Amino acid sequence: MGRLGFLKSMYLTFKQFFRKPVTVLYPEERIPDFSRYRGIHLLNMQKCKGCNLCGMACPNFAIKMVERLNPKTGKMSKYPEINMARCMFCGLCEDACPLDCLKLGGIYDFATDSFEELIFPPEKLAELWEQRFGTPALLESKSNE
Ligand code: SF4
Ligand code: SF4
Repeated sequence: MGRLGFLKSMYLTFKQFFRKPVTVLYPEERIPDFSRYRGIHLLNMQKCKGCNLCGMACPNFAIKMVERLNPKTGKMSKYPEINMARCMFCGLCEDACPLDCLKLGGIYDFATDSFEELIFPPEKLAELWEQRFGTPALLESKSNE
């Protein structure tokens, strides 16, 4: 490397001192959500009809239908439970839902060292829906009472 090359590399190095850092102090600071980021699922249990089209669309068999008592009908109904350890966040389940009650909601921080915690029952998905959209999604939402 000649003298010119050395000066160029030093110039590039010193230029970095005046750049704004691209990293943030997560979790205290967070970068804004990207509008098209998929993230984990949100479910509106009040709208879900238990058709299992989401489960049939899933190429990774990450969706299992589980029964819950629907207080409105007094009958058992089926709702999706999602195993995030199997999910590859392709969004096919969201596309398959005819009632728009299953969405990938942009939430990305759900790291855990427990396999069980990666299985999201419908109530957990519905709580996330309520937090994200502020509308009732649980079968017995507090905001419904
Ligand atoms: S995002 Fe894809 S892999 Fe994940 S549950 Fe939906 S269909 Fe299955
Ligand atoms: S989330 Fe949608 S596709 Fe899945 S069972 Fe409910 S209504 Fe059917």
